[in-house]
Amino acid sequence: MSEQHTSSTITPLFSAETIGNRIREIGKEISDDYAGATPQNPLHLIVVLKGAFIFAADLVRTITVPCTVDFIHASSYGSQKHSSGNVAIRHNLQVERWNILLVEDIIDTGLTMQQITAELTALKPVSLKICSLLDKPEARKHPVEIAYTGFIVPDTFIVGYGVDYNERYRELPSIGVLNS
Ligand code: 5GP
Repeated sequence: MSEQHTSSTITPLFSAETIGNRIREIGKEISDDYAGATPQNPLHLIVVLKGAFIFAADLVRTITVPCTVDFIHASSYGSQKHSSGNVAIRHNLQVERWNILLVEDIIDTGLTMQQITAELTALKPVSLKICSLLDKPEARKHPVEIAYTGFIVPDTFIVGYGVDYNERYRELPSIGVLNS
């Protein structure tokens, strides 16, 4: 990926092929860990919109145990490159007795995941784990336990493969750093 968009350039980090290979590995791990899932008691994926929509679409097709897919909407960046510190979460899920796997694009400060897990845990699921395509451990301010991580990335601004800047770049098949 060497896209030139107005004055911004993107430095490639992970190709579409590298992402696909890693997702197949994660899907196998998840399928092994949830081998006890049944059609009556499936694994419930809850996808955090919007950034995780492409990751989730690819991931779910590598999972071989019965599962369902729901969505939750969270936003913290607005039109900025830095978290606003306020996370707006929207969902109407009843998750009691569910085994939940939260599917996220990037864990940065950890605030979004901390707030979503607190909200869902209060609804008494059987279990709740996190799967994040990308993790920026250097940026962490709020501790988060991530069960499945695609790639560790530096504390830079990432775009591509569902992840945007001002709604741009989601369509790129690979992941890179947006240089301003
Ligand atoms: P946190 O609450 O962990 O600070 O931020 C989580 C959310 O911020 C992610 O779900 C993602 O939407 C957004 N985010 C964090 N880092 C980046 C980044 O490098 N690029 C983009 N486009 N969004 C990011």
